[in-house]
Amino acid sequence: MKVLVIGSGGREHALVWKLKQSSRVEKVWCAPGNGGIEAEAECLPADSADVPGLAALAERLSPDLTIVGPELPLVNGIGDAFRTRGWPIVAPSRQAAQLEGSKIFAKEFLRQQGIPTAQMYRVCDTAQDAIAALSRVDWPVVIKADGLCGGKGVFVAQDAAAAEDFIRRVLDKNELGAGGKRLLLEETLEGEELSFILVTDGQRYAPLVPTRDHKRVFDGNRGPNTGGMGAYSTDELLSPKLRQQILDSIVEPTMRGLGSEGILYQGFLYVGLMLTASGPKVLEFNCRLGDPETQAIVARMDFDLAHVLAELAAGILEPSRLKWKPGASVCVVIASEGYPGKFETGKRIDGLTAAERVNGVKVFHAGTRRQGDSILTGSGRVLGVTAPGASLETALGKAYEAAGKIHFEGMHYRRDIGAHAGRVQAVGD
Ligand code: AMP
Repeated sequence: MKVLVIGSGGREHALVWKLKQSSRVEKVWCAPGNGGIEAEAECLPADSADVPGLAALAERLSPDLTIVGPELPLVNGIGDAFRTRGWPIVAPSRQAAQLEGSKIFAKEFLRQQGIPTAQMYRVCDTAQDAIAALSRVDWPVVIKADGLCGGKGVFVAQDAAAAEDFIRRVLDKNELGAGGKRLLLEETLEGEELSFILVTDGQRYAPLVPTRDHKRVFDGNRGPNTGGMGAYSTDELLSPKLRQQILDSIVEPTMRGLGSEGILYQGFLYVGLMLTASGPKVLEFNCRLGDPETQAIVARMDFDLAHVLAELAAGILEPSRLKWKPGASVCVVIASEGYPGKFETGKRIDGLTAAERVNGVKVFHAGTRRQGDSILTGSGRVLGVTAPGASLETALGKAYEAAGKIHFEGMHYRRDIGAHAGRVQAVGD
């Protein structure tokens, strides 16, 4: 099998690494890839938002399977573009990707299917309308831009002044660009957050091992939100009872709803949940795998990912093939100085070989480039030091031992990934 992976981050490096372990895989390309992926796959220049450009690339390469990491090509319709041409791809259709691409579409879907979610107050496309609607909400209120905004589209407003400021910046000053043309006002949910990721062919589905990510930049969940500073996985994260509750009240009706609406969903579905006092409720859908959750997930895969995904692209998921290593896994993200604010790139990274000598450790590259024999930093999140272990403690020990061997100017990482691990609570547990 020749496989094309689209994307350039740690998630894509993890996918490439896992795919390469399959005896069925003879070649992996990554478009565009990064300095670390280059060591394991042939990287080709590409703009992952440009579906016609990616189709032209695939026409030239003729891969047996294409796997898409980020949301932009999915929302831009890469799934339909490839399937129309008869090219096997793991990607929900453009319509299905609207579950992530439009918060309003997702909300309507949830409402129609009777799936628990935050109550929607109003959809607005003028600041005047949105500000008027503030007189009829409970505080704090959640304000969401409808489209993709690179993680900047959700604001929890504590009072009317803060809400008005956000509304004007988005709808009057157009600060979020095309993703911010419409706003959704909704109820604020309280509780613990949990990501529940599954893979599906539209009918059958298989949940992946549970993971938890760490969004804030500093230890103790302090500082601004980031793309994710680390993740871990253990089965203990989710009790059998909560898992069943999520399957019954959220996953099953979602699958039925997709089927009854005729929406083709072939790929990964990431369900962001709030575990509220009245049960789990959907905060958001993503139409792809999470980053850095994927790095922790691949570390526990005990099956041939290429085989499963090739079958999925042919329309059949075989859930029984997904076998998982018991125990745990951890991914510690190492970031550039200043991230998630302004940061510099081009710093030389040392110690990568020593880090990977720690038993079982794999360092996934999130944003690096190669210059001669050196690897240089290339973005805010730079590396994801990933380790499996028989227990969470063992996995953490290995990941942090390896992280301690890596050095570049200004690097920082959280020291408390997985430190507050505890089972999330189902109502009535
Ligand atoms: P989303 O992109 O919709 O998941 O929103 C990003 C983050 O905003 C979520 O992970 C939550 O932390 C927060 N959030 C979104 N919607 C709500 C809500 N209705 N209530 C409370 N927090 C929310």
